[in-house]
Amino acid sequence: AFEVLVVGGGPAGAAAAIYAARKGIRTGVAAERFGGQVLDTMDIENFISVPHTEGPKLASALEQHVKDYEVDVMNLQKAVGLVPAKTPGGLHEIKLENGANLKARTLILSTGARWRNVNVPGEAEYKNKGVAYCPHCDGPLFKGKRVAVIGGGNSGVEAAIDLAGIVAHVTLIEFDSQLRADAVLQRKLASLPNVTIIKSAMTTEIHGDGSKVNGLTYKDRTSDTAHRVDLEGVFVQIGLVPNTEWLKDSGVALSPRGEIEVDYRGETSIPGVFAAGDATVTPYKQIIIAMGEGAKASLSAFDYLIRLPAS
Ligand code: FAD
Repeated sequence: AFEVLVVGGGPAGAAAAIYAARKGIRTGVAAERFGGQVLDTMDIENFISVPHTEGPKLASALEQHVKDYEVDVMNLQKAVGLVPAKTPGGLHEIKLENGANLKARTLILSTGARWRNVNVPGEAEYKNKGVAYCPHCDGPLFKGKRVAVIGGGNSGVEAAIDLAGIVAHVTLIEFDSQLRADAVLQRKLASLPNVTIIKSAMTTEIHGDGSKVNGLTYKDRTSDTAHRVDLEGVFVQIGLVPNTEWLKDSGVALSPRGEIEVDYRGETSIPGVFAAGDATVTPYKQIIIAMGEGAKASLSAFDYLIRLPAS
């Protein structure tokens, strides 16, 4: 059995594994796709002390750093269930899709999240070429340019306010006849001179010249007419979904949005089970935050282990 078993191999999981291995304890990582969201990212300019890197490069550095230690890395392994220890200090069990079971004294859940796609022509083709999902990450790349934000909930309106301070113009596109963001955010948005709000609009296509985005078409749902907006970037803000479906029947407490509830030490509702990164309720989903939370959860797991009675 493992002393620490990390589920998920993104920035949070990699940091947790390294911190555990450096304590000289038996550490494993099971990941569906080692590297996580970083593999889908191009330019990264906010990983402090590294002014610029690229996703695949950071992902391979994460893997190399983990492999510098004695960590049992089980890549391409999807967890489908968690059975908590029956007795305090006992072994937790992770069920894998391939039928295998892994046992561990502590778990660190770091299965991350995924951005919901609009699923229109051009979205996949122009991902990282004008189609973006994270204003904190990619906003500055559109300095002085025109962008659209798709989605008028809190995250869409926050993104539009944030981007309006950086880019030349923001068009906010909401499917519904009204925005769903908090009133205070809506008032702030309405006060900005370089923002246009379009409601009852369904995005139907993202256009490009083959190498980058140059426009977007939406259908006005009240008149059924199509309109084109010329722009250089599209931020899709229709939800970040935590990869926690597999925890539904485990007893690990999840928030109404499906995020894993953790306390300030990264411990979940089950003693000995910790969590970190985008899969948790911790706000602001960023690489540097996921890594910090992974390190914290790992140190908390170690703290838990050294307090168990000697067996
Ligand atoms: P993830 O990176 O999502 O990793 C989750 C891991 O868990 C993966 O290994 C996955 O395969 C695995 N997993 C999922 N489900 C299971 C399962 N059931 N069983 C086993 N394993 C599972 N952040 C920045 O700070 N700067 C940026 O510039 C930036 N740009 C971004 C650009 C894009 C296009 C995207 C999508 C995200 C970007 N982010 C950026 C956000 C950043 O990538 C995330 O905040 C970060 O990767 C979260 O790390 P994580 O370890 O919590 O989760």
